[in-house]
Amino acid sequence: MSDHPLDLAALAQIPVTRLKGVGDKKAKGLAGADIHNLLDLLTYYPRRYLDRTKEARISELFEGDEASVLVTVDRTISRRIRGGRVLVTSTVSDSSGTLRLTFFNQGWRERQLTAGRQAVIYGKVDLYRGQRQMTNPVVDLVGDKTGRIIPVYPQSEKSGIHSWDVTDWVGEILRRTLPPAGRGLLDPLPMALLDRHDFVDRAAALTGIHRPESMAEAMEARRRLVFDELFRLQLALVLRKRAIERTEVGIGHTVEGPLVTRFAEHLPFALTSAQKRAIAEIGRDLTRPVPMHRLLQGDVGAGKTLVAVATMLAAVDGGHQAALMAPTEVLAEQHFFGIRTLLEGMTVEDRASLFADRPLRVELLTNRVGAADRKRILSELLTGSVDIAIGTHALIQETVMFGSLGVVVIDEQHRFGVEQRAALRERSYADESPDVLVMTATPIPRTAAMTVYGDLDVSVLDELPPGRTPVATRWVRASGALDEPPEDLEAAADLDSMWSEIRGQIDEGRQVYVVCPLIDESEKLEVASAEATFDRLSTVELDGRRLGLLHGRLTPAEKDRTMELFRDGHLDVLVATTVIEVGVDVANATVMVILDADRFGIAQLHQLRGRVGRGAHASTCWLVGESTTPDSEARMEALVKTTDGFELAEVDLDLRGEGTILGERQKGRNDLKLASLARDRQTVSDARQAAIELLDRDPLLADQPALAAELELFLDEADAEFLLKG
Ligand code: ADP
Ligand code: MG
Repeated sequence: MSDHPLDLAALAQIPVTRLKGVGDKKAKGLAGADIHNLLDLLTYYPRRYLDRTKEARISELFEGDEASVLVTVDRTISRRIRGGRVLVTSTVSDSSGTLRLTFFNQGWRERQLTAGRQAVIYGKVDLYRGQRQMTNPVVDLVGDKTGRIIPVYPQSEKSGIHSWDVTDWVGEILRRTLPPAGRGLLDPLPMALLDRHDFVDRAAALTGIHRPESMAEAMEARRRLVFDELFRLQLALVLRKRAIERTEVGIGHTVEGPLVTRFAEHLPFALTSAQKRAIAEIGRDLTRPVPMHRLLQGDVGAGKTLVAVATMLAAVDGGHQAALMAPTEVLAEQHFFGIRTLLEGMTVEDRASLFADRPLRVELLTNRVGAADRKRILSELLTGSVDIAIGTHALIQETVMFGSLGVVVIDEQHRFGVEQRAALRERSYADESPDVLVMTATPIPRTAAMTVYGDLDVSVLDELPPGRTPVATRWVRASGALDEPPEDLEAAADLDSMWSEIRGQIDEGRQVYVVCPLIDESEKLEVASAEATFDRLSTVELDGRRLGLLHGRLTPAEKDRTMELFRDGHLDVLVATTVIEVGVDVANATVMVILDADRFGIAQLHQLRGRVGRGAHASTCWLVGESTTPDSEARMEALVKTTDGFELAEVDLDLRGEGTILGERQKGRNDLKLASLARDRQTVSDARQAAIELLDRDPLLADQPALAAELELFLDEADAEFLLKG
């Protein structure tokens, strides 16, 4: 036997069936929880701990307390109640008293809570006929454990795996792996990193998380293991980014050309310092002969367009072209008109005649452009006489070829991955790949961005241009179903005064959006509800005003028509489903009403609110919704309190956890078992920093074979090949 310490790969090769007490049945249960080998078991972490020096005693529990108690089951009975439901009641006790547990529709509890079993019960105490009771508490069977701190593992009755089973198996693995009986565990982290962060070594971390002597030890262990997870993830992301950079050749643009300079000098206002910083960051990317892949995050109105224009002009200055892609035709048109105005009077060197200049050309390409114009524009894109093309996805379809595409800006496009990059490259006759700037108005927290968009660089506009009146947000605690007037007198009065203020705004010439209740179940129901809201408002609250209706069942032409009527001031009110979320810029619209606002997420509410507050007049956003859950209450309060998208994104992360954010781009490739993007923000930054520093020195981890091997273990094969083999 060699005395090399074991690495995780070695543990991953040993099936769980090699452990004492894992027969076919248990192995099947474990497989159900995706645990197949010893590594899976070792990284199956306790959900929580019961610190027996701190646990509550039943006699000390008061009504309303949330508490955890260690009990022995005295007896459990089950009976049917009204409606065929099953009611299980259990009497449990510790040496200080007894507690009644009540479970609805959990018939299996009768078999789980047999007399004599030990369990940790966690729940809220209420009183039932003067006796302490918990209803539907969390139950963890812990077996007869004697340690001071008992780990509680996630378990399910169905799989037949109990917390004490896991405790025993993990104990056996640790005993057979670590000295004196075992060979020890390899720690792949460079010593310097361990020192810098004052981390315990891996063997201590795994022992500490599964078998802590104190909660402080468990916390130290967690800190180290969280770092390991995030460090592996960041290494993979940074490696991916660099592998792409290695395989693509870019254009070394100039950022000091005449157009960029002139543009900056002729702006009617000073750039915000956030805009200056973003432009400088982009400038550094542009001048490198490596294609840029950068995300520009900034709230609605933060001034992303100017940054995009400066970026595109750098391409034009070097004799290349630029394209801006928007998600809808309306948005593309809006960008087109705005940018054409910004660039009016600019000229470029005409390479056809040596001494002459010609006007800089901006063209719009969407499916609405007629056949003849389209043909002309396509041929001009090819010859290079169009400098900036603005459009929808139509811009990167196969029939479109650019003479030399130098910069691509993508607005509000979240799913822009490797395939789209490849498609883009093929749209240009130039050999080099264009620089890509992706803009989004959905801020996500910095640490989440590092993870979700870890293979992009990120610039942030975290500052609004001066002189804006922030949108005032008010919450009316009433249902958004307008035909059911609230029974609560105050709510009814609040609704009344809201509509009367809104009528006042319309009378002053302002315009109003009304967003209808969100109905997830079916588009048909949602459309019906929008139509009902429209009818109701037209005849009651906003009788006599000009209303338009916008929903997902309309044809694109109908949508555009309604949008245009609103934009041109021929409608006072736009009643819409969330189709206006990624919407248009109507400076005269000053009121946003969101019905059933409690059903929307923070990001969506913030986006919707961003539709107003775009002009000189003060704007108001009305959230109409009941406080249905603590979370919905927190969401509404956050919206009322701040208009800062980044602050809201942090709240959102706190409320929802990272699942939804990660879900967008990380499906399938996340091994975050302990780490939480919400809780471990600092560690995310530390891990990214450490990954960058290490890969700067050692791009393919040649000097860190143990770390490289571990990364391969967690990556799939094709990825590992692409990332680590130069
Ligand atoms: P975004 O695309 O980030 O939502 P825009 O680029 O459309 O924001 O800018 C919103 C408005 O703010 C535009 O009317 C723009 O001209 C104006 N703006 C942009 N930057 C500044 C600035 N530094 N100072 C004053 N106004 C600005
Ligand atoms: Mg914009």
